[in-house]
Amino acid sequence: MNLPPHITIRHDHLWIGEHDTVELARTWGTPLYVTDQDRIEACYMACRDALSAEYPRVRILYAAKANGNLAVLRALAALGAGADVFSSGELHLALAAGMQPGTLLFNGSSKSRSDLALAVERGVPVSVDSFDELGQLEAVAAAAGKTARIAFRVNPAIDVPTHPKIATGLATSKFGIAHHLIPTAYREALSCAHIDPVGIHCHIGSQILDVEPFARACEVMMKIVREITGMGVRLEFVDLGGGLGIPYHRGEGERSPNPADYARAVIPLFRQGIREAGISPELWIEPGRSLVADSTLLLAGVNSVKPAHRNFVNVDAGFNLLVRPAMYDSWHEVIAANRAGQERKVTCTVAGPICESGDILAHDRLLPELAAGDLIAVLDAGAYGFAMSSQYNSRPRCPEIILKGRSAALMRRGEDIGDLIRTMETPPWQERGR
Ligand SMILES: *Cc1c(COP(=O)(O)O)cnc(C)c1O
Repeated sequence: MNLPPHITIRHDHLWIGEHDTVELARTWGTPLYVTDQDRIEACYMACRDALSAEYPRVRILYAAKANGNLAVLRALAALGAGADVFSSGELHLALAAGMQPGTLLFNGSSKSRSDLALAVERGVPVSVDSFDELGQLEAVAAAAGKTARIAFRVNPAIDVPTHPKIATGLATSKFGIAHHLIPTAYREALSCAHIDPVGIHCHIGSQILDVEPFARACEVMMKIVREITGMGVRLEFVDLGGGLGIPYHRGEGERSPNPADYARAVIPLFRQGIREAGISPELWIEPGRSLVADSTLLLAGVNSVKPAHRNFVNVDAGFNLLVRPAMYDSWHEVIAANRAGQERKVTCTVAGPICESGDILAHDRLLPELAAGDLIAVLDAGAYGFAMSSQYNSRPRCPEIILKGRSAALMRRGEDIGDLIRTMETPPWQERGR
């Protein structure tokens, strides 16, 4: 079936690392998110080594939104990663995980004054997304008596072959400043007393399975780098963003570029650009999905089966826990975890427990004959999985466990009914005995 190396089938059961998923489900219950820390570390090191083989001054900023659990951030921080943070919450988590402020980049097209003030106070560089934001940041930094280190987010107007909801570098995207306005932006930044333009940034989209768009974006960026260096900007980093895809359809032989493919396609263009500009900045990249997606399974128990116009397999996890199929039409491999060696002979539709027709995790998949009490595993659930979960239908979120070698531990406890009502308040006119 072409599984990643840490996912194996042994004696009819699906294993992740050194753990039998059937045992994990018995111990921790379902639904359950299971993350393999060793796999995340291996992906990070493969990425770091492939890039630094082509250019020594590389920094990897993990895109914290893909999976913001502190245990994941801590594991990556210990290996030297920084982070792309997209909110004050992600900034706090990255620092709590032990990352250095100067290795973070505060991204986003709609930051509040308090977001900007936090970045200035903690010394986190800001990727500025508009002229309006530049003016506000100058005022915030002046009020704090500090200098804000910034990059501009460039919209390179690159058409990217991915789902339209995750293409972020189109000319029509909400992100970034149009590339032809970027020199003007740096000129304005140079005239600000409390702004230090030290970087330049772009991010063209997500789940990109071809290295060509990255190479084209790099060319656009290097042209701007030469121009703004000539204007007197002293760049300390060039951040080319994230977006490398993973082979969700690996069963059908889909391939994704590995970090070495990316490095070979992009870094020579980067090196040529900085040579022509006469500078040697750090190269930053911001992978999210490619570091964490395949580290994680979502385990779900089968509640019932219903032969109808489709063979429905009704499970206890739906788009409350994994929204990607409903939101992006994403395809995730599904395996019958306690019957993993059995012949796949029934075409099934795996449906969640949420009161929405769109709550389907997988359409028309060949699976072994299933019954209530069986266990299914949804693969590649580590990026934009738990991170996008909700309490819709008043379902407490499930626990997340993390594996390291033969050890397994909670990295987030499951919620209970108390968690659902903890933040709710009773308006005074509804209080009893009034
Ligand atoms: C989401 C995002 C990333 C990560 O994208 P992946 O596809 O998960 O690698 C990187 N940079 C920025 C600015 C982002 O918004």
